[in-house]
Amino acid sequence: MNIDGQNTLACIFGMDEIKGDVKIYPLPHMPVVKDLIPDLTHFYAQHASIMPWLETKTNAPAKEWKQSIEDRKKLDGLYECVMCASCSTSCPSYWWNGDRYLGPAALLHAYRWIIDSRDEATGERLDDLEDPYKLYRCHTIMNCAKTCPKGLNPAKAIGEIKKLMVQRTL
Ligand code: SF4
Repeated sequence: MNIDGQNTLACIFGMDEIKGDVKIYPLPHMPVVKDLIPDLTHFYAQHASIMPWLETKTNAPAKEWKQSIEDRKKLDGLYECVMCASCSTSCPSYWWNGDRYLGPAALLHAYRWIIDSRDEATGERLDDLEDPYKLYRCHTIMNCAKTCPKGLNPAKAIGEIKKLMVQRTL
């Protein structure tokens, strides 16, 4: 919810961090179901659209899909997202184009799967994001990184996706 002008997780935001009256609102620019509860149906549908799972084409290994320690480390700063929607609902681009722009949370998750060394659908994932709205409506405003209560940086992840888009054309 929005507490004292900032989107955050109410369960970890301390009242002692606020001076004066505590002002609480539902997350901004979202339809409200009731009281402080936003309707996140579209937000979750956008998350589902980036295929938030491991996509493989080769035969499954007998035990498990292995990953080196180094490759696993690349997922740090990405997998910790709790889908609280604080970032997306703090983003002016998402306020204005949330119907077509995927927003920081979904794109952070998209990048998490794009760079997973075990995933075999990188090309398809990038193809799907090659769209004037889905990805490129991010204008690096950085509200997402500023507000994320988990200390994550969706804007950086989005920048990395944009870099991969360029690299694959070279
Ligand atoms: S990136 Fe941070 S602010 Fe955005 S949904 Fe995940 S935990 Fe919440």
